[in-house]
Amino acid sequence: PAADWAGWPIRDSRSLVCGPVNSASGPDPTPAMPDGLRAAAVAARGFMPTEEGDALWVAALEATAAVPGSPLLEIGSYCGKSSIWLGAAARHAGVVLFALDHHRGSEENQAGWEWHEPDLVDPEIGRMDTLPRFRRTVFDAGLEGSVVALVGDSPTVGPFWGTSLALLFIDGGHGSEPAHRDYELWTPKVASGGTLCIHDVFPDPADGGRPPFEIYQRALADGFEERRAVGSLRVLTAAR
Ligand code: SAH
Ligand code: MG
Repeated sequence: PAADWAGWPIRDSRSLVCGPVNSASGPDPTPAMPDGLRAAAVAARGFMPTEEGDALWVAALEATAAVPGSPLLEIGSYCGKSSIWLGAAARHAGVVLFALDHHRGSEENQAGWEWHEPDLVDPEIGRMDTLPRFRRTVFDAGLEGSVVALVGDSPTVGPFWGTSLALLFIDGGHGSEPAHRDYELWTPKVASGGTLCIHDVFPDPADGGRPPFEIYQRALADGFEERRAVGSLRVLTAAR
């Protein structure tokens, strides 16, 4: 619905890559995602509306064009749905997506919470384990060469991560502490001119939790520039 949109709609994204409106003869900077990969992303299990996933594909293509040769990293892969959109762009650009997740689920994925899926519990240990489903999603999409799983806790991995990123996608723990910690730990790793994407940003508290919106506001205050909004996805550019 139009009310969900702010900033530039995705169809205008080419102007963001090339500045003024392209000549019709110029190369298309945002080629369509290969049909099979897009179908796999749409069919995959998880929490990424198609319109927002398509915006991830565009954002990642732009990011890899702006910062060639640097990888993408997402925090919060779950069963690999967003990983297909981002991994497809990584493959297109000849880089990789690092998909960081401890695969034990966020607070809201645990038993008794709104977003719990009981079949994703490992019955022997009684804990969530989305890694097998993630691996299968990436395998079925044919993206094992472009999507590298980092299985671990974000604040444990972050301090040892030194590679600057063309794109960072934050979609991990949505509580206040996890979201702000991910913001503080990982956004300094976004390359100059690189892209920061944040999911589940709801300006109206009636639509969802505050922390993703709060870190989006921090990003703006810290000099990230908003490039696009699609649904609850915000796409920002590291201007520094
Ligand atoms: N992007 C996914 C949805 C992510 S759900 C999709 O497209 O469907 C949030 C994920 O963040 C969960 O899989 C959870 O395990 C992970 N997560 C939460 N806190 C984390 C932390 N501290 N470190 C690593 N992963 C975390
Ligand atoms: Mg999300």
